Amino acid sequence: MAIRQIRMFDDEILRKKSRPVTAVNDDIRKLLDDMADTMYNTRNGAGLAAPQIGILKRLVVMDMGQGLLKLVNPVIVKQEGSQEVIEGCLSIPNIMGKLIRPAKVTVRALDENGKEMELTAAGELAKCFCHEIDHLDGILYIDKVIEFV
Ligand code: ZN
Repeated sequence: MAIRQIRMFDDEILRKKSRPVTAVNDDIRKLLDDMADTMYNTRNGAGLAAPQIGILKRLVVMDMGQGLLKLVNPVIVKQEGSQEVIEGCLSIPNIMGKLIRPAKVTVRALDENGKEMELTAAGELAKCFCHEIDHLDGILYIDKVIEFV
């Protein structure tokens, strides 16, 4: 377990596309643990994607108050509706912005044991899934922002 350094918005690694994980092994589980430690070490982090610690692998950790979620190769397989949300990002400190996200999403991913799972979420949780999965494609919320708040 270790706390990693969070990359900031001007780091070009945040703009790169992450590669799918081909085998969910101990190295991946250790990485997910380090990502969780790093997220919980922040004041208000609810999600962290691997590129934010400089690793271009499709890994996300999230905790929106429902417990820790570890996602390997997450993909949005279905989305519905739209909602206006306010977002911030651990890589872009001290600012927040308003943008439009889907109201409801279904995400397919592997868990830390390589088992397939499917999760459907609405509201804040749906927002968080979209934000973190965008990171895996080099997209930051500021690319989609309507106005900073
Ligand atoms: Zn972010």
